[in-house]
Amino acid sequence: MQGGTVAVIGGSIAGCAMASAAVRAGADEVVVLERTRGRLADRGLGLCVHDDRAAELAAAGALPSGIPAHRLERRRWVVREPGAEGGRLIWEQPFPFHSYHWGLLWRGLRAATPDGVRYRQGVTVAGVAADAGGAAEVRTADGSVERYDLAVGADGYRSVVREAVCPDSRPHYAGYVCWRGNLDAARLTELDGGTDPHPEAVTTVCFAGGSCVIYRIPGPDGPRVNWVLYAPPPRDGALRYDDPTSFPPGALTPELRGHLRALLEREFPPYWGRALALTDPADTFVQPIYDLETERTTAGRLLLAGDAATVVRPHNTSGAAKALQDATAFAAAWRRADSWEKLLGTYQAARGPAGRELVALARRLGRAQVERTPPWARMSGDEVAAWWRTQLAGAPGIGGQALAP
Ligand SMILES: Cc1cc2nc3c(=O)[nH]c(=O)nc-3n(C[C@H](O)[C@H](O)[C@H](O)COP(=O)(O)OP(=O)(O)OC[C@H]3O[C@@H](n4cnc5c(N)ncnc54)[C@H](O)[C@@H]3O)c2cc1C
Repeated sequence: MQGGTVAVIGGSIAGCAMASAAVRAGADEVVVLERTRGRLADRGLGLCVHDDRAAELAAAGALPSGIPAHRLERRRWVVREPGAEGGRLIWEQPFPFHSYHWGLLWRGLRAATPDGVRYRQGVTVAGVAADAGGAAEVRTADGSVERYDLAVGADGYRSVVREAVCPDSRPHYAGYVCWRGNLDAARLTELDGGTDPHPEAVTTVCFAGGSCVIYRIPGPDGPRVNWVLYAPPPRDGALRYDDPTSFPPGALTPELRGHLRALLEREFPPYWGRALALTDPADTFVQPIYDLETERTTAGRLLLAGDAATVVRPHNTSGAAKALQDATAFAAAWRRADSWEKLLGTYQAARGPAGRELVALARRLGRAQVERTPPWARMSGDEVAAWWRTQLAGAPGIGGQALAP
């Protein structure tokens, strides 16, 4: 199918990828409507993409070359133990991923959007609907209405397009939060133990009721250490977790700051507790953990991609790869389709079940690694490996699966 007009609502990872895919597939006019003005600000910084997914996405043209990435090889699971500064290793597994700086990944994707894409910033979409002629109607916050052959919802976890596609889908709070932060890797030299002896490894600190993932990422001014600590929040009735952005960088409440400090001192191997404590408060924030699945990813001339379609708990390390895979599947469905209905039907058949599987797997990972943690310190390496396989429940691994040919 050739031609047609497409509005992409949201210009982040999924939005840039979907807009590029629409141009590559043959759309006449592609417009991105992004509410943020200027450069999109980093929110937590680090993310990882599995090497197999990255290779597939690069081959499909969805992951541009030249974006800085840090190679990771292994994942080390450690517990606090007296006398072991860096913790005691309980298990090690291969971890064939590369880590990215969110802002550098976004800038690479934005720079790679073809000239044919009109990227309009400062435009907030208030709602979308099917118009009487079977096209998509996009209503902006200033009251104007625009019509397109297709509207793509790439507007993230609070998607207004999702409200039109699946009005009943609601996010579920997982019952725990993550503290996220990052610091200049050079600052590790300030510690007694010197610099991180395992820069090519992800370290997972395990404790009763939570866990913390620590890894390096590239940064605009040199390597950084990125960390994500999952645990229940303090039991303080004054704090609310119904807004995923309620505690942005630098705005942690004293309770949340104090709780983090206590966790680092009580549960972490001394080296890692001191390392994370070096994080500047301006680079620390808290994000409630949610998930959300949708029964449909399309309706009429509306289509959902990335976090708008499914919100997956971060344990799966699949968010960015999933968004780029959605764009790849969208371009493939477009090329094979001879009508909008076929395009939308093929996309929904390919991406609906894949999104729901990711949500289910990440729920199992979250339950095992935060909600119902095992007695890690008493487990043998074989027992930890068996515990890991139980979480996968037959899935080949984390980070997303290959797209069906
Ligand atoms: C600014 C920002 C920083 C992030 N930083 C990180 C990070 O450091 N680490 C990490 O792992 N993940 C981060 N994420 C999340 C990560 O990008 C996603 O999980 C994943 O890449 C899929 O993203 P997405 O494009 O589907 O959704 P999102 O990245 O959430 O993007 C949605 C976009 O839609 C725009 N938008 C939303 N509603 C409207 C509307 N009504 N009208 C117009 N525009 C709208 C938003 O401004 C945003 O740019 C970040 C997201 C954003 C928006």
